Amino acid sequence: MPGLLIIGDITTEMRDRLKGSLDLHDAHSIDDITGFLDREGATIRYALTDGHYGVPRDWMDAMPNLALISNYGVGYDAIDVGLSVSRNILVTHTPQVLNDEVATTALMLMLASYRNLLASDAYVRAGRWAGEGNMTLSRSADNRRVGILGLGRIGLALAAKLAPFHAEIAYHNRTPRDVPYRYFDSLAEMAAACEVLFVVTPGGDDTRGIVDRTVLDALGPDGLLVNVSRGSVVDEQALVAALQDGRLGGAGLDVFANEPTVPDALFSMSNVVLTPHIGSATVETRRAMGNLVIDNLLQHHADGRVISPVPECRDQATVTARFDG
Ligand code: NDP
Repeated sequence: MPGLLIIGDITTEMRDRLKGSLDLHDAHSIDDITGFLDREGATIRYALTDGHYGVPRDWMDAMPNLALISNYGVGYDAIDVGLSVSRNILVTHTPQVLNDEVATTALMLMLASYRNLLASDAYVRAGRWAGEGNMTLSRSADNRRVGILGLGRIGLALAAKLAPFHAEIAYHNRTPRDVPYRYFDSLAEMAAACEVLFVVTPGGDDTRGIVDRTVLDALGPDGLLVNVSRGSVVDEQALVAALQDGRLGGAGLDVFANEPTVPDALFSMSNVVLTPHIGSATVETRRAMGNLVIDNLLQHHADGRVISPVPECRDQATVTARFDG
């Protein structure tokens, strides 16, 4: 049976589906992974990882027969895809099945920010409603000028979810799309024109730090930044400074530069909503993602085809008709 190296946590349901087809090895349960790979690296044909761990280069070097890396998530910036392609190792991911969930997370951060949800909850729990009366008014989440940085699969789902809030939607991608939203070829100009900036691009070198001080200042003291993409896309130091100085109105953050570490300065800010990278983290969506991760592995094991390769691998992959990733 070919070996599968599991890097990170997977569900029991995923594990059960793999048993009997692949020989499972949990990297994080192996005390001496280097020794293990020295001895058994050649038996490993598959790796299962996620957007946090990826596959370290020296591990890849020690697995000469690795054929496929199945990534549990749509973002695969933790995997060196260039290296994988050069070694003829396919990489698959989980596009589409999480679009609505991540879009809901982004919308939730916007609603919680405008309507002061966390402070309201704390106010009631602290017994202040009875003692001090009504809270100060919050701001409406309706009729906002919204900019989406990264109008892709998740960005489009977000735009659809914003429609009932009567948002005026603009977007910035490298390439304009045939959509009924205003296109900005400059991110800073879009930030200046909107009240909420949603960040939904992939991470990685192409997007590193593109939400910088200039963009944050353009968004301004009444502006809200919502980031559900990767912490690397935002210059986190510039973000903290902008919030401290009052140059940025608020932030809803699901992702951070150095997870799970979050800058201490954010903890005491009442205009910031923080979530621990839960964009896709519901039972239903994780089940759908898990199924796709396993389907890719079992499909490849059965006939060499895959379902949802990352774009960089599409030329070398034989893809089933099932997915339009
Ligand atoms: P897509 O590839 O469908 O969309 C990405 C969009 O970003 C595209 O429209 C692309 O347009 C744009 N983009 C890419 N690079 C740049 C750039 N340098 N400047 C401006 N725009 C750019 O991806 P998904 O919507 O499926 O996923 C987006 C990301 O969301 C994932 O890669 C992941 O990092 C993150 N994510 C976070 C989750 C969480 O738990 N918080 C869960 C799931 C995903 P163009 O190519 O024209 O520039």
